[in-house]
Amino acid sequence: MTDNAIFDGDVVIAGGGLAGLTLALAMEQVGLSVAIVDALPLDARLDPKFDGRSSALAFTSWRMFEAIGVADHLRPHTQRIEHIMVCDGRPYGGLKPGGPGADILHFDRTEISDGPDGEPLGWMAENRHSRHALLSAIEKRDRITSIAPVRAKHYEERPGGIDLILEDGRYLSAKLLVACDGKFSRLRKQAGIRTFGWNYGQKGVVATVQHTEPHNGVAYEYFLPSGPFAILPLTENRSSLVWTEPNEIADALKEMDEAGFQEELDNRFGDFLGDVRNIGPRWAYPLGLRYAEQFCQERIAFVGDAARGIHPLAGQGFNLGIRDAAALAEVCGEARRVGLDIGALTSLRRYESWRKFDSVTLAASTDMFNRLFSNDIAPVRKARGLGLSLVNKIGPARRFLMRQAGGDTGELPRLLRGQRLDTVSA
Ligand SMILES: Cc1cc2nc3c(=O)[nH]c(=O)nc-3n(C[C@H](O)[C@H](O)[C@H](O)COP(=O)(O)OP(=O)(O)OC[C@H]3O[C@@H](n4cnc5c(N)ncnc54)[C@H](O)[C@@H]3O)c2cc1C
Repeated sequence: MTDNAIFDGDVVIAGGGLAGLTLALAMEQVGLSVAIVDALPLDARLDPKFDGRSSALAFTSWRMFEAIGVADHLRPHTQRIEHIMVCDGRPYGGLKPGGPGADILHFDRTEISDGPDGEPLGWMAENRHSRHALLSAIEKRDRITSIAPVRAKHYEERPGGIDLILEDGRYLSAKLLVACDGKFSRLRKQAGIRTFGWNYGQKGVVATVQHTEPHNGVAYEYFLPSGPFAILPLTENRSSLVWTEPNEIADALKEMDEAGFQEELDNRFGDFLGDVRNIGPRWAYPLGLRYAEQFCQERIAFVGDAARGIHPLAGQGFNLGIRDAAALAEVCGEARRVGLDIGALTSLRRYESWRKFDSVTLAASTDMFNRLFSNDIAPVRKARGLGLSLVNKIGPARRFLMRQAGGDTGELPRLLRGQRLDTVSA
């Protein structure tokens, strides 16, 4: 190693967002040495103002968090999702689930799990707490090296390995490089991988509200003419809002003064959660679809938003990244156990084919739902209302969709079944 070489191990992860951090823990569990690089300092990523989002974590994602040692740190900050109400709603006169004219699809977790403590439909956690829990777990792992703040510049392949070159001239060597550098991945660009996708011309305005009536663990997704509006339950009688609007309206909502925003909240909510008050700052995230044609090449794999970024209306983006991490760690663990090269294309293709179906299905369905529901065209409204009511009446369809949203479909990687990967025998 020269002076500029700062790591020589099994896996280098470029990007320490939620997906990269999750992957680091999963890879470490199969006995691999891991380095994770991020452009931003740790303090900046942990600052409460850095990321205002909260994520709905599917029940299979939570099982994985238990298996990789993250759940214990995160549990005090999580809220169980007991019900999901999907409503083709109208904002006028306040949102009233089940009110006159509102078509509704109701998912109730007791249909798929038993007892008061049975597995919920999912868990809500603020991203800042998830990030903190992931980093706390990483701190305890000797085989993970964290390097930040520094930006990954490019990679260079060499026989039997790959080097990641950083902008400050240092470099890391590994058998496998994983790009977790987000939707606009620089490494994906270097790899020449084509993407398809588009911007929706919408932004998701994110805010946290406190209300006087309990949410009872219900997550609401209202499809309104201007875009989906989600009310997601958090601890302590709070809810996280994802308020989707065309760009200019979203910017106005984000920038308006507190009194103006409170008025918008009052108009929108009516009284179904009692007195609703905004607490804390507001954020506005541009929304788009970006899908990579390949999830791997020789010695490099793409995970999380670097593989595909989707519309957040189903709350699945991070869950897809978690599923990527579970599949890639299992594939690499198996390769290592039988003495194969973890960076070889044959291993990585297994990862890619495992992850493609789920990814395409969610990218296409979220895109279709956003288009179908973000309008007020009378015949379309009628047809979609009919569709919601019909599915609502069919038990097996409801249960299938609940399992689908929980990530419980197809051949599940072991971590998503809650099984640790370091207990697999040779
Ligand atoms: C409004 C909204 C609500 C959402 N709600 C949900 C939800 O309820 N459930 C859910 O599952 N998902 C949800 N998502 C999606 C989820 O937030 C994303 O899918 C997830 O955060 C992506 O994580 P990531 O680690 O792949 O990418 P990112 O979060 O983009 O992280 C990329 C990381 O790479 C680093 N980086 C970038 N370039 C470089 C470089 N050259 N060198 C080094 N580091 C680099 C960045 O600093 C960053 O830390 C939501 C998204 C939005 C917009």
